[in-house]
Amino acid sequence: MVSKGLWTAPPFLEIGLPLQNKRLIVAIDGPSGAGKSTVGKALAKRLGYLYIDTGAMYRAVALMVKRSGIGLKDEQALEGLLSSLHLSFGNHEENCLYCDGEDITEAIRTPEISRLASEISQMKVVREAMVRLQREMGKEGGVVLEGRDIGTVVFPHADLKFYLDADPEERGRRRHKEWLEKGVTVEFKKTLQEVIERDQNDMNRSLSPLKKAEDAIFIDSTHRSVEEIVNEMCHIIDDKRKQE
Ligand code: C5P
Repeated sequence: MVSKGLWTAPPFLEIGLPLQNKRLIVAIDGPSGAGKSTVGKALAKRLGYLYIDTGAMYRAVALMVKRSGIGLKDEQALEGLLSSLHLSFGNHEENCLYCDGEDITEAIRTPEISRLASEISQMKVVREAMVRLQREMGKEGGVVLEGRDIGTVVFPHADLKFYLDADPEERGRRRHKEWLEKGVTVEFKKTLQEVIERDQNDMNRSLSPLKKAEDAIFIDSTHRSVEEIVNEMCHIIDDKRKQE
């Protein structure tokens, strides 16, 4: 079960309300290092919405698989692990993630877990469990969800869809900076290679591959600040509300 932890749930179900007043479902998809998390968090804050980092959920599964020593071919054991997994997002500002009460926010941010998350996210049993939980968490609206398949699979009818991308070199640089800030010493070349490999895995897998939804708005974050992008997104949201 995934719960919203300390997050405040939207006050009521708003189906049928005009878009002007409706608490929207906003989807942000794109490859790693495109800036989805930073932008998603800032946008959610601006709108007073919940922020749901779906990548963190796949990372949590990866961490638990690693700790339990379950083989990736052992579907039954994996199903058991998924059904007993209790994830909850904590503090909205810091976006902490808890698994069975343990704060795993830092533990899921390692190169090893990045690789394993990319691997386990290709498995049907894992995707089904995560998509179910994400739909449950976002169904009442007032949410910004970011990931790889939000606009295509999780919420194909999301009110607003964005696809965020940046040049691979820039995405590699951002990821490398993050590792260095965390004290993980890894060569830039290796980080870039991993980012590219992960993109390839995510884009070429048979289940829910990363791709831009036809109705998603493409934003290139390469030479732009977070503030600029969030402003642009807010304008688009405002325009959309006015058009309704
Ligand atoms: O976004 P982040 O890098 O934390 O995601 C980790 C991995 O989880 C991705 O490389 C991707 O394989 C997987 N993922 C996914 N679908 C999502 C979010 C993440 O397959 N909606």
